[in-house]
Amino acid sequence: MSKPTCLVFQTYNRLAELIDSGVLTHPRVKRRAEDLLDLLKDVCTGSSGPNHLQAILKSVATILIEEPEAFSGEIKRIVGEPLESHQEVFVSHIETHNCPTGDCDFLTPAPCQMACPAGIDVASYVGLIGEGRYAEAVEIIRRDNPFPWVCGLVCTHPCEFVCVRGRIDSPIAIMNLKAFAAERAVSERTYKNPPKAEDLGFKVAVVGAGPAGLTAAYYLALKGYRVTVIEALAQAGGMMMVGIPRYRLPREVIDREVAFIEELGVTFRFNTRLGRDTTIDQLRSEGFQAFFLSLGAHAAMDLGIKGEKDFPQVIDAISFLRHVSKGERHIPGKTAAVIGGGNVAIDAARSLIRLGCEDVLLLYRRTRSEMPANEEEVKQAEEEGVRLSFLTIPVEVLGADGKVTGLRCLRARLAEPDEKGRRRPVPVEGSDYVIELDAVISAIGQRIDPEGLDSVTDLHWTKWGTLIADTITSATSAEDIFSGGDLVTGPATVVEAIGAGKRAVEGIDRYLRGLPQPKMPPVPSRRMRAALSEVPAQTKMALRRPEMPFLGPERRRITFQQVELGYDEATARQEAKRCLRCDICKRCGKCVKICREQMGIDALQFGHVDFGTPGLTDFRITAERCILCGACAANCPTRAMTLEDREGERVLSLCGTVLCREKLETCHRCGAVVGPARYLEYVKKRTSAVQEAFAGSLLCEKCIRQLTAQSKSGITIP
Ligand SMILES: Cc1cc2nc3c(=O)[nH]c(=O)nc-3n(C[C@H](O)[C@H](O)[C@H](O)COP(=O)(O)OP(=O)(O)OC[C@H]3O[C@@H](n4cnc5c(N)ncnc54)[C@H](O)[C@@H]3O)c2cc1C
Ligand code: SF4
Ligand code: SF4
Repeated sequence: MSKPTCLVFQTYNRLAELIDSGVLTHPRVKRRAEDLLDLLKDVCTGSSGPNHLQAILKSVATILIEEPEAFSGEIKRIVGEPLESHQEVFVSHIETHNCPTGDCDFLTPAPCQMACPAGIDVASYVGLIGEGRYAEAVEIIRRDNPFPWVCGLVCTHPCEFVCVRGRIDSPIAIMNLKAFAAERAVSERTYKNPPKAEDLGFKVAVVGAGPAGLTAAYYLALKGYRVTVIEALAQAGGMMMVGIPRYRLPREVIDREVAFIEELGVTFRFNTRLGRDTTIDQLRSEGFQAFFLSLGAHAAMDLGIKGEKDFPQVIDAISFLRHVSKGERHIPGKTAAVIGGGNVAIDAARSLIRLGCEDVLLLYRRTRSEMPANEEEVKQAEEEGVRLSFLTIPVEVLGADGKVTGLRCLRARLAEPDEKGRRRPVPVEGSDYVIELDAVISAIGQRIDPEGLDSVTDLHWTKWGTLIADTITSATSAEDIFSGGDLVTGPATVVEAIGAGKRAVEGIDRYLRGLPQPKMPPVPSRRMRAALSEVPAQTKMALRRPEMPFLGPERRRITFQQVELGYDEATARQEAKRCLRCDICKRCGKCVKICREQMGIDALQFGHVDFGTPGLTDFRITAERCILCGACAANCPTRAMTLEDREGERVLSLCGTVLCREKLETCHRCGAVVGPARYLEYVKKRTSAVQEAFAGSLLCEKCIRQLTAQSKSGITIP
């Protein structure tokens, strides 16, 4: 096992070793050290509360003042010094119940939470959904992301790529569950804002009402700041509103979630473009003391081919989708080609179909397996009638009388993989051919449009045209200006923009309060330890990820109606129950080891606990072999494995999954519980001499002792 690096955990261990070593010979010093150890244990195990830091400091101070130097010196070195030099680590453990190093077993977030750019406590909200507690699930999500419904529909869900259940069959449908909970909470009117803090009096301007800006506005308003959002367009939402088509993300969903932000007192200045209608200096003179720039990446990349600028029917996908989002429904041509292989290209192609284009062809330079677009969306596009042409390089837009008539293309082949493993498309000489068509939509990428920020002279930019901002604090080179989202990262995702908005709030808050900025990037916080749902092992293994029901392709071709129809309640709750609750089971493998090596039983087949040596997981095996001794549960560091005697049974469970249960036997003599038969059988084999003396009767430990003494001394012991 690697050496622990967590300072709190190290402090706890060192103090425990000191006490165990016996050098604290004075009884009062020993008792005081043990009390201090209990407090530190609370901090390492997530049981600490707001008074723990003061209690620890007081305890150390008392020892240092009142105890002899011979004892207090060691305690000062082991506990006092780390507390003094790195008090923030202790504070963070106490406040967030979170250990970024993973050494404090109880406080480590699950892999899904670690993978989420907004740091959502996935395991807890999935657990709450399993229990039918949707409003609480939404409340947990909104601690880290004010857009649970939006993200439930369009998130790129990096959490699902690391989901541990994926090692058994398929990942938990984390994203779909989020949409389900949000929709439920909205329809049941239980989707609510948390209380906001007292007004701090500071004015903050957020420029750009996309997910980054709106997230910053939400958390700033909750902290008590007076927030105004400056937005060039007539409505909020950014690319969620004017990029992502409504058949994937209905406008009402965005409006609903934006309305909750507005409800906190955030004000919006629409149709106000920074650089045209206002400037940072003007805003400063209006009394704004800090700024969050989140202007996104709204300029399209040029194709760089002949004829591209000569015809009105050559349109970039960003402009095209923006017009469609505004309700424009005329087609740019009966036959159209979309150039690109990403999600934006697929969105443009599927929108063209819905507008009534007769033939929509998607041209991509590489092959299907290199397409960056989401596989499911590519499949849906094909179902709707989009044709895909791979290894195709457009080289010239052809036309006559101001109208597009065709696209000259070259065939391509893939070169050998480069150092990054990517295979470059190489044009095949002499392979050119013409595709006849009426319109071309280019979707080969976006870039930052620096217009609007020209007037802010003290900003620094990368060579790719993105704004430079600190990855921890979001601060730019201008003291009062912070930034995040696509403007800083280049075109990315909604959840990354949300994560950036949330991070910036911490930076802005500290700047305005005059507090030092953090040196380490923030780590996701576990928000609760949600109750475990009891599921039999058979069910846990048999449950499969449900398919998302979709609108039929025929209907999809003619309407912008939402394609995903969503889970029903029973499906959502059942899916939540597949979760392995990795916020509690850390997959340390101790249970497997103890059962196999110490007990010699080998009842736990948990391939998923070890990413290094993949093996099968089968929770059902345990019921066949387990003797319900409880050795695994007794040694489980996080209480993920539990052994309980209840209602006449002994039950072994792992995070709520019932692995084994058996009737409890009672003592024939006094009626006390002696354990399940298979455990007694196991014990009997190892204590044959004692058992032989009382053969035929089932006795508890106490009765065996009494009868043994009685038979030896002839005295009756009560
Ligand atoms: C077609 C398309 C589909 C996408 N699909 C997905 C998806 O399915 N899932 C996903 O996760 N991501 C998707 N994305 C990416 C995602 O939408 C963006 O990464 C995200 O919206 C970026 O958020 P942001 O807040 O940084 O910027 P934006 O959302 O771009 O918002 C920036 C805002 O700033 C405003 N603004 C710009 N300049 C000024 C100015 N000078 N003054 C005032 N206001 C200004 C803009 O009008 C806009 O409202 C998609 C993007 C596109 C284009
Ligand atoms: S099984 Fe549950 S807790 Fe574990 S990674 Fe997947 S969603 Fe997260
Ligand atoms: S309770 Fe069962 S699974 Fe756990 S150590 Fe004992 S025999 Fe193995």
